[in-house]
Order: sequence, then C-alpha cells, then structure tokens
Amino acid sequence: MQTLVRIMRVLLPLTLVAVLLGIIWLRFRSGLAQKTRPLDPAFLRLAPLEIAALPVAARFDMPMGSEHGALTYNAQPFRIQRHLGDDLNGIGGGNSDLGDAVYAAGAGQVVYAGSPGPGWGKMIFIAHRLPDGDELGPVVQTVYAHLATIEVQSGQQVERGLRIGTVGTAEGAYLAHLHFEVRLGPYVNPGQGYADTPLNRVSPEQFIRARRAGSDQLLNPTPEKSKMPKR
Ligand SMILES: [Zn+2]
Repeated sequence: MQTLVRIMRVLLPLTLVAVLLGIIWLRFRSGLAQKTRPLDPAFLRLAPLEIAALPVAARFDMPMGSEHGALTYNAQPFRIQRHLGDDLNGIGGGNSDLGDAVYAAGAGQVVYAGSPGPGWGKMIFIAHRLPDGDELGPVVQTVYAHLATIEVQSGQQVERGLRIGTVGTAEGAYLAHLHFEVRLGPYVNPGQGYADTPLNRVSPEQFIRARRAGSDQLLNPTPEKSKMPKR
C-alpha cells in the first residue's frame, strides 16, 4: 500500500506537467496557424471609387487554349456536383496542360494574386467593370485557381488576352487544370469552390458566350502560336 502511495506521488505531478505542456503546445500551434493564415475571410470589398476606376470590359474570351477555348474542354462544368466554376483542361487530358498559359478573360484590374489557403493553390482575381446596361453589372470578377505560376501583381491593370500565369495542380492536389469562376459583386474573398447554392457565382461558359469578342465561326490559334508564320 505504501509503495502504491509513493508511486502515485511521483506519477500525479508528472501527469499534471504533461497535460500542461500539451495544452501550451496546442495553444502555441494554433497561434502559429493563425499567424500564417494568409487571408482574412472578409478581407476586401472594392470601394465605389475603385469600381468606378476599373477598366470597362465590353468583351470576354475563355482564359485558356485559344481565343474561344477551342483547345480546352470543360471537365467539370458549373453546378455539376455542387461545383462553383468551370474546370478547364487541355484537350490532351491528364497533366498535358501543366504550364500552359492562362490569359485574362477581359480587361480589368488584378485585385488579388497569391495563395489564399489549401485547396486553392495560387489564385488570381481580376475585377471588371461591365458596360452600362449589362444585367450583371456594374462589377464582376473572374477567378483563376490552382495555378503553377502567377505573372501579374495585385493592383495591375490588364488587357483581355494578357498572359497572367500558368495552369497548375494546386501544389500537387489535383491533375493540372484551371478552376475558372465568374463572381458577381465587389467582395474579394476566396470562399469555397463547392456549395449547395450558386452563391455569387454565374456559369463562366454562359457569361463568356454572351460577351465574347468574335463570331461562333471564328476560331483563332492560341496567342502563343499566332506569332508563328502562317501556312
Ligand atoms: Zn474546380
């Protein structure tokens, strides 16, 4: 009995110390996680003046493959399986589009370029002012996610068709593709890529089809190849 009491006297303080150390470690770890969180969820709302200063985007094109996306296909369209964007893939499938150029869908201003958190990878938001009278205006954002590289900076104004980055895998999370969204309104917030309701998103394909720069019959080569001599 006395031995048991002696053992307990040693064990109890040790257990207490271990529990305390555990609590301190957990606190410390969550503190670190908060410090490295790159983006406050409600981090940015474009001010009316900023919206007024945005370039007007009268026309849009698909962000990959060719002027009208002839070299890409939509592997997971808007609202299929709660998806909030289009997943654009090169026609070669698999990782064949890894490193392919991604172009600004319309004239606008980069309002975010960075890595907002797991699942998104490198991500770009471009804000566009729509012409007066557009039912979805005055401001929409095009969103480009899972990028391998980012080639623009936040605050930069871009023309339609400017190369802004390359197709990636969200740091190895998926097979290479471009997750592309069109969002309504002035809130810049990565949010989620899937939901039960469309939130503030609209179908990218339909949005661009209604506002694209050329006729259905016109299929241009990719901007990269357009510099090559014509045969
Ligand atoms: Zn996606």
